[in-house]
Amino acid sequence: MSSIDIYYLVIFFILGTVLGSFYNVVGFRLPKGESIFRPKHSYCPSCHHKLGALELVPIFSYLFLGGKCKHCKKKISPFYPFVEMVTGILFAVSYYSFGLSWNLLISLTLVSLFSIVIVSDLNYLIIPDEVILLSILVIAFATLMKSDFSIFLQSLGSGTLLFGVMYSIMLLGDWMFKKESLGGADIKLMFVAGLALDPLLGAMVIFVSSVIALPVSLILYSINKERVIPFGPFIVAAMLLMFFLKVDVMRFLGLFLYR
Ligand SMILES: [Zn+2]
Repeated sequence: MSSIDIYYLVIFFILGTVLGSFYNVVGFRLPKGESIFRPKHSYCPSCHHKLGALELVPIFSYLFLGGKCKHCKKKISPFYPFVEMVTGILFAVSYYSFGLSWNLLISLTLVSLFSIVIVSDLNYLIIPDEVILLSILVIAFATLMKSDFSIFLQSLGSGTLLFGVMYSIMLLGDWMFKKESLGGADIKLMFVAGLALDPLLGAMVIFVSSVIALPVSLILYSINKERVIPFGPFIVAAMLLMFFLKVDVMRFLGLFLYR
């Protein structure tokens, strides 16, 4: 690794933590129908004290303030710095995996989607449509730029196919369990999976997300029995995993093919 690579890794990590901080705001405010931009200032959720510049530094502010609001001394949820940290790390991993490329843009979009989805889906069981739509537009644009028009059409077809598959699973589940089994947002997320991945890897998202969701749900359920565990974060996590693996599989095959 050259020093320029390390420089970019640090830059992408910092960019990730700053955007992660913004995604906290998006994930907490959008599902409540609040504006992301007004009030412009971030505020303490318990005493509504406006946060100053030093209280807004991702991760560090939380550590310096000892996890408490400077004003009312109420505990700040560790969820905020956690999302900032995860976004920062995954931004750096994205750069490490893809370099400066259109795939990097797709990867950063999936990471952003993941961060917002864990905030909004875990707290409100809602994934805002705006967030999914924006992700689709950015990924579709990057797909068009990195390949030709026929590949772009294939990706759209792949998204539509997986959307249809997930929709059928929902109808089947609703009929079998006589209640709502999957959320509408989960189905829309499968369109994103099909768009970013090919149909096969996209289909694996359904399988992999279920495999990750099972142990995590059991643990969360044993801690808090009342809680409904949303499926959205697992779908996006699986999508991200498949997107990283796809390229690794290619590299792995490349080792044998181009020797
Ligand atoms: Zn406060």
